Amino acid sequence: MQHANEDTISVIVPCFNEEESIKPFCDEVGRVFQSGVLKFVNLEILFVDDGSSDNTLNVIKEIAFTNDSVSYLSFSRNFGKEAAIYAGLENATGDYCALLDADLQDPPHLLEQMYLAIKNEGYDCVATKRVSRKGEPVIRSYFAKQFYRLINSISKTKIVDGARDFRLMTRVMADSIVSMREYNRFSKGLFSWVGFNVKWLSYENVPRVAGKSKWSFWSLLLYSIDGILAFSVVPLAFVSFAGVLIFILSILGVIAITVRTLIYGDPVPGWPSLATIVSFLGGLQLVSLGIIGQYLSKTYLEAKNRPVYLIKEYYKRKEDVNGPDRKNREPLSPSLGTVTRI
Ligand code: UDP
Ligand code: MG
Repeated sequence: MQHANEDTISVIVPCFNEEESIKPFCDEVGRVFQSGVLKFVNLEILFVDDGSSDNTLNVIKEIAFTNDSVSYLSFSRNFGKEAAIYAGLENATGDYCALLDADLQDPPHLLEQMYLAIKNEGYDCVATKRVSRKGEPVIRSYFAKQFYRLINSISKTKIVDGARDFRLMTRVMADSIVSMREYNRFSKGLFSWVGFNVKWLSYENVPRVAGKSKWSFWSLLLYSIDGILAFSVVPLAFVSFAGVLIFILSILGVIAITVRTLIYGDPVPGWPSLATIVSFLGGLQLVSLGIIGQYLSKTYLEAKNRPVYLIKEYYKRKEDVNGPDRKNREPLSPSLGTVTRI
């Protein structure tokens, strides 16, 4: 026989133009928390509206104002999913934090299994990955595979191929992620970097309930470069290594040419080889400068120390905003945004 317990799971949902997904999402999560073990666990759904330009915020408001377990934050503009995840983890009040996409591609019914694994098997986090890339364009799968191979061979932080952001973690782990305040956020790497005991669940790819994916091939490519820059300095080492190698080769070349000239005199001047060498070195220097520039630009952005996100408005249940003691956590980033209360 199960007893009611005091645990609260915060379900954090980044939303960018998801007006059609919000309602089905709430219904499904509501259903999941009405059966099994989760029936005895408190639920907080925290929507993070990432500067949507459609009706998403209004749909969320409608639900939040009538449903006690729903609250939201709304950003002043689109800051990206990484920022939304960060804001959610920072402001959620539960003992456990779950990250779920609004489009129901992360099946909420797995939450029960995840919760039990943390409660009974001693894990700090249960993460998920896709079994296969079925339904994805072949070329995208190919590049994704190459990306994981590359980043895992040049970074000490292991990044699991096919890992999704869908996961449930303890408050301690969520707080560790929040303590990493970097501006260039690559969550897949951050989750791996903090360590902890992680259990992996696999599931088949599920199609979106409504709307379409926000990722284009180009944005995925830029995102993967971000990942490499954030978790590996091997490209910089490669630049230095190439520099040293070419330096040694050129010294050998100088010696060889000098010896040859002393023995055979100076026959044909050989400008084509010279032109090739010059353009080779020019190209290599530009690539090197480009790589260094990439790291420098990231450092530049970090040095500015800008906030990862800005809240325009938020809504929390009354008892959370004024409440005496929600596990001693600050309610929401002070001085940011306005509280809407009814
Ligand atoms: N998302 C977001 N900000 C963005 C892009 C996406 O908050 O700038 C949210 C989106 O609303 C969804 C989740 O991130 O809940 C995953 O996005 P999407 O479904 O487009 O990605 P995919 O599942 O195709 O990887
Ligand atoms: Mg999706």
